[in-house]
Amino acid sequence: MSQGTLFIVSAPSGAGKTSLVRALLERLDGLQVSVSHTTRAMRPGELDGVNYHFVEVSSFEAMIERGDFFEHARVFDNYYGTSRPAVQALLAAGTDVILEIDWQGARQVREQVAEAESVFILPPSLATLRKRLSARATDDDAVIERRMGDAVSEMSHYDEYDHVIINDDFTTALGDLEALVRAARSQLARVREAQAPLLQALLSGDEGVE
Ligand code: 5GP
Repeated sequence: MSQGTLFIVSAPSGAGKTSLVRALLERLDGLQVSVSHTTRAMRPGELDGVNYHFVEVSSFEAMIERGDFFEHARVFDNYYGTSRPAVQALLAAGTDVILEIDWQGARQVREQVAEAESVFILPPSLATLRKRLSARATDDDAVIERRMGDAVSEMSHYDEYDHVIINDDFTTALGDLEALVRAARSQLARVREAQAPLLQALLSGDEGVE
């Protein structure tokens, strides 16, 4: 069984990252999103264990102490982190894993997994970003202003990533993201490992070998 590939997806809030990733999962098999732990409050419509594992600060800090996190960071006053054993188990089972994390987490992952593929999703303009952030009825004006500032700061790290996708037209951006995953799956090292019996049979030249 070959190891899955690790994909890092970062974006400022409002760039459409979560919707793109959700649509991508519907299109491709063998791909899962890692469910992060966070200390932030649950938003309406979110489910514990689905959107995030919502935990107390004390539990989060205990997990840091135990070394349970593959990466973790403080983002907008809250802790966020990726469980190391959960991700390792998925990768070992040959599943590709998407980490929806910020630039700080992305740096930590790159340090540990050089082959991780990273992609940054940008909005087509600040005006569009503001419109998308305002459409979230859950946030008031002050929160939106703050998130605009946070978005600019997150976007300043776009050039640390292997790929950049501009989410203007959703379908086009989704196609770009899918192409990226498919391209990673056809990389030589991965195919060599995943298709070892087929390669052996093809190169044997023996048509009797299945
Ligand atoms: P939100 O609270 O809007 O769901 O997410 C806020 C930010 O935290 C986003 O930039 C998101 O990518 C980031 N984030 C979510 N989960 C993780 C995680 O496990 N690790 C890190 N480093 N960032 C995360």
